[in-house]
Formats: sequence, C-alpha cells, structure tokens
Amino acid sequence: MRFSYISHLHCPKCGKEYPADRIQQLCECGSPLLVDYDLKELKKNWMPADLAGRSNDLWRYHELLPVMDEKNVVTLGEGMTPLLRMERAGQDMGIPHLLMKDEGIIPTGSFKARGAAVGVSKAKELGVQELAMPTNGNAGAAWALYAARAGIKASIVMPVGAPLITRNEVAVSGANLNLVNGLISDAGQMVGQAVKAHGLYDASTLKEPYRIEGKKTMGIEIAEQMHWKVPDVILYPTGGGVGLIGIHKALKELAELGWIKNKLPRLVAVQAAGCAPIVKAWEEGRTDSQFWEQSETVAFGINVPKALGDFLVLAAIAETDGCAVAVEDGELLQEQALIARLEGAFVCPEGAAAFAAARRLKQSGWIQAEETVLVLNTGSGIKYPETVNVEAPVLQPGDLLQRRTEEGEVSWGRKGKSTNEM
Ligand SMILES: *Cc1c(COP(=O)(O)O)cnc(C)c1O
Ligand SMILES: [Zn+2]
Repeated sequence: MRFSYISHLHCPKCGKEYPADRIQQLCECGSPLLVDYDLKELKKNWMPADLAGRSNDLWRYHELLPVMDEKNVVTLGEGMTPLLRMERAGQDMGIPHLLMKDEGIIPTGSFKARGAAVGVSKAKELGVQELAMPTNGNAGAAWALYAARAGIKASIVMPVGAPLITRNEVAVSGANLNLVNGLISDAGQMVGQAVKAHGLYDASTLKEPYRIEGKKTMGIEIAEQMHWKVPDVILYPTGGGVGLIGIHKALKELAELGWIKNKLPRLVAVQAAGCAPIVKAWEEGRTDSQFWEQSETVAFGINVPKALGDFLVLAAIAETDGCAVAVEDGELLQEQALIARLEGAFVCPEGAAAFAAARRLKQSGWIQAEETVLVLNTGSGIKYPETVNVEAPVLQPGDLLQRRTEEGEVSWGRKGKSTNEM
C-alpha cells in the first residue's frame, strides 16, 4: 500500500499537466493547479472499512492526500471535528434536519488549520525552507504555527484591521509579521514582490496546489460522519472559496471511488453583502468574478474582493445546482447571537453568515423543510470578541446581584420578587 496515491497536477483552465514531485505554483497560464490521484488503483485497494482504528484526524485519509512519505506529516491533531444536530435553531428556521460541522475547536481556532497542515507538510516534503503569504488573519495564524512546527521560516502580511488575536498567533510563532494599511489584495501584491525578489515559496491562497487538499478533508469527514450518505445542501462562508472547491473535489473523488451512494449536495457559497463578488457573478450568470471595490464586513475571513479560484467556485455551484447568497452584517450578527442562545455554540461571524443564509433560503423556498442541511462553522467565535456587545453591571462586593428584565435592571430580592426562582 502506498501512503499517498497522488499522481500529478493539472490545470483546470488550459489542461496542462505538471509533475507533483517538485515545487509548483500557478500554471504558466496563471490558473491555480489541482492535484490528481490514481483513483482507479486506489479503488481496488481502499475501502471505508480500512478507516477503522486509524488516527482520529484528517491524516486518516492519507491515501487521498498529497504527502508521499509519512515522516513529512506535520500535525497538531487537526480534523475530525464534531458534526452536531442543531435542533432548536433548526426548529426556529423551519429546517428540522439542520446540522453544523464545527471547525471552531480545531488547532489555531479556524478550519485554516486543515489547509496549513497539508500545505506545510507538502512544502516540507518538497524541501521548502522559507514561505510567504498574505492573509486576512486566520490563514496566516495557521500557516505561521504549522511552519514553526515544521522548522520552516514564514513571512506573513495582514491588514491592520485583521482580528487582533491572529496577529498574536503569528507573532508568538516567531514568524516575520508585517501589517498593511490596506486590504488582503494589497498584502498580496507586496508578498508577490518579495517572492520574486527573494525566491520564497508563495503560499498565497491557491498559488500552491495543496491547501485545497487539506480543506477538502471537511468534505470527506462529512461523508464519513454521515455514513457515506451526504446531505441535500451544504452552506459554506466563501472568501477565497478554497473550502468550497475542496469539499466539491472531495465529494467527486469519493463518488468516483464508489463510496458515496446518493446525489451530491447542492453547494451554497455564502458571502457578506459588503463583499459579495461571487454572488454578483452568480446573479449575472458570469463564470468569473470582478474585483469588489471598498469591501467591508465584520466577517473578516470572507472579505476577499477578488478570488483567484472564483471560476472554480462558480463551477462547483453550477454543477451541483447550488446557489450564492449574500447576507448583511446586521443579519449575521443577529444569527450569531441566536445560535449561541439556542444551541450554546459561539460560532464565528463567517459561520453565522452561513446560518443566516440557510434561514433565507428556507424562507424563499429554495430549501425544503424535509431536507438535510449542513452549515460549516469555519471558526471559533472566541477569535472575534469584538462582535459581541457586553452590558453587565459592575457591583461592589456585598451588593445584591442584578438581573435584567424587560423594564431594565432589577436586583433580586427587591420589588417583592421571590429569591428562590432560580
Ligand atoms: C478564510 C475563512 C473563510 C473563507 O474560507 P475560503 O475557503 O477562503 O473561502 C471562512 N471563515 C473563516 C473563519 C475563515 O478564516
Ligand atoms: Zn493553465
């Protein structure tokens, strides 16, 4: 048995093929490259039962991952995140079979750990010593920390507006951190210049082929956790779109292996109304997107004005009869609070956007009540403390505890209220 069944890379735009045993960035035509596997051979040698007893992380699918030698695996235990039933939120939305895959409890606090684990492992295997990347925060945090574990030097550039905690994650990893007074697209230009000048490995979104492979394990896990019967709809908060492209790729590979028996899910790309280039392109029937001017949203991970893989996202939506939806910041923040109150889950604003989109699509009739609907919560709400408004009274020691009611704050024990209600 081979550890990996990787065969080569190919360009989804012009079809050109590349070997996978040396560093490759974009295709010479400028498109991202995708990883191919020897699925015919793998189909003969690999069955779902083989997964029993394997490590409870994404490396349990190593045959469908690009790392050829197990000793190059760089792991912090990422993957196999919980798949949870969301009964009360589902009831509130009229979607009784609502599920959440919760990426909030993964190392580094967002699903970016998946892309970083596989991307950094493959970089190590290819002999990379120094990498650079622009980021909206979470990817930089994950790549900096995994690079540290791999002994690879990292240079990370993020907007000054990126979530503060992601700065700390990069800084504590010992990586070289630069902040830019601008957007991720500005950071990208600056990284491109440094890559050229210093011969660094460009780990920008989709400029190396392996991040997709890490993120696709979300799709494999969903299939395994649902016993190879996939949901009707998957909603995904879309920035660069890597996760959605990855999930689609995973499900197609599993279908080709004969592991998935039912119809592939309709994939929904969810964006913030303040940065919705994919949604606009979808509504206009285009196959690629246009730069979104002056983008702005509290859901920082999906503030990507122009994605290199936009055409792959739009193709994945079209192929699965999916759609693209934008939600307002106010709407997603309200949904975030509701999910916490009804389900006890503190989801990130990006995940909250996907819940808000599910609610909308149910209202519009695009989602039917009997369908199984899965929302990806791509990170932990704990990484974005500023999205929650905290109003709490500050008491002096010995004061009576207060409790908020509709008329305002009252102290327990006053106004004739019973003290043993709780
Ligand atoms: C990066 C990010 C996204 C968007 O991921 P893509 O795969 O780039 O579309 C969504 N949510 C969070 C929390 C992120 O950090
Ligand atoms: Zn090409």
